[in-house]
Amino acid sequence: MDIPKTQRRYCPFCRKHTMHTLRRISVGKKRRKMAQGERRVDRKKKGFGSFPKSNPKGRAKPTRKLDLRYKCKECKKEHTIGQGFRIKKFELKKRL
Ligand SMILES: [Zn+2]
Repeated sequence: MDIPKTQRRYCPFCRKHTMHTLRRISVGKKRRKMAQGERRVDRKKKGFGSFPKSNPKGRAKPTRKLDLRYKCKECKKEHTIGQGFRIKKFELKKRL
């Protein structure tokens, strides 16, 4: 899927439609290994009990959720729209 890199969108900060530039956040990079939540999950995974299990191998999802950020050109603030969607191929185009 191709999406134009600049779009005219509603900015919740300016409360009007302005030009936005799109930015894709790459996922699955560095996790904060020593963050409190991460340590808690690690500890839970070690011992008995059930819930926080690691995902079964070989059954990974073929796609990842897309994390798009919209940056308003007027106030230079970033916001998201929706929760992202699963997509296999994605490209930001200068002009469609
Ligand atoms: Zn704005």
